[in-house]
Amino acid sequence: MGKKMNILVCGAGGFIAGYLVKDLLNKGHRVIAADIKSEGSWYQNWGDAVNHYSCDLRSKEKCEILSEGVDRVYNLACNMGGMGFIQNNHSLCMESVLIQTHILMACRKNGVKDILYSSSACIYPMEAQTEVKDSKSQGLKESDAYPANPEDGYGWEKLFSEIITDYFRKDFDINPRVCRFHNVYGPNGTWDGGREKAPAAICRKVITAKIKGESEIEIWGDGEQTRSFMYVDDCITGLDLLWKSDFTDPINLGSDEMVSINQLVDIVEEIAGVKLKRKYLLDKPQGVRGRNSDNTLIKNTLGWSPSIKLKDGIEKTYKWILSQIEKQ
Ligand code: NAD
Repeated sequence: MGKKMNILVCGAGGFIAGYLVKDLLNKGHRVIAADIKSEGSWYQNWGDAVNHYSCDLRSKEKCEILSEGVDRVYNLACNMGGMGFIQNNHSLCMESVLIQTHILMACRKNGVKDILYSSSACIYPMEAQTEVKDSKSQGLKESDAYPANPEDGYGWEKLFSEIITDYFRKDFDINPRVCRFHNVYGPNGTWDGGREKAPAAICRKVITAKIKGESEIEIWGDGEQTRSFMYVDDCITGLDLLWKSDFTDPINLGSDEMVSINQLVDIVEEIAGVKLKRKYLLDKPQGVRGRNSDNTLIKNTLGWSPSIKLKDGIEKTYKWILSQIEKQ
């Protein structure tokens, strides 16, 4: 076991950070967990094992108070969601630049060097993602980020936060880690309400159709758009390994098992044991046309890359969403 640390996890009430807190506690660290949501609505709960704070991390003062005396900060706090949310809320997405900016300023003041920022594949230029990819297509590699033309709102927020983090590294000697997550999914995340992403939304639609005996589900777009999806356990492993390296530049953290949305629906239908008609809604937000992660850098840097098969991860996610629907 390594050194025990005091760790601040920002966005701890959210999906990925919920797993991160669990992992950090298992490793024996002390965790200070902060999120804007009231405590009862956090995805995971650790009782007295962590210090919980429900507060708005856009506030510089809160960032200063919470980062005092900590050894490391993970910033996973962000006002975000799937395409349905980010394409309709550019300003709200941009406001999250305040979170990373104030965390950096607070950490500088409190002498905290280790700061992890959760960036996104949405920083990559739109023109690199206008076509459906196939297995021979090149994924997005880290150096493709510039010249910049990221996703409106959310992508600019992520890119600005990456850049200011790098300036703080150069000017104030902080020791950052910056990972560009590509579509993370799994149990204990958003699965309805408008912020959910494709894997959870498709599981919910298939389960609901099966329960209600309906024969058709709605798909946003024509279903031919391609993506890769990383199971959350791989994401947590990647974060851990990143701190074991000394790599401070942005790095892709995503699966390179690419599928079309139609293939994702096939997988969910197989798990559910149903075959449904697909009604394609071409006017709904669908994001870029084709995206995959190029994992050359992460393999070379960490000697590892995400490997959990989509079918295995979706099976677990499906079961969890089914349990949530049954509870309702
Ligand atoms: P999430 O929405 O489940 O978690 C984010 C948390 O941040 C939420 O609990 C939210 O309440 C909190 N938050 C928002 N504004 C806040 C504020 N002002 N003060 C304090 N807390 C605030 O999202 P997630 O999927 O767990 O994503 C975590 C991080 O990873 C985010 O930065 C996100 O942009 C990034 N990311 C996620 C994915 C993905 O597929 N899930 C992909 C790329 C990047």
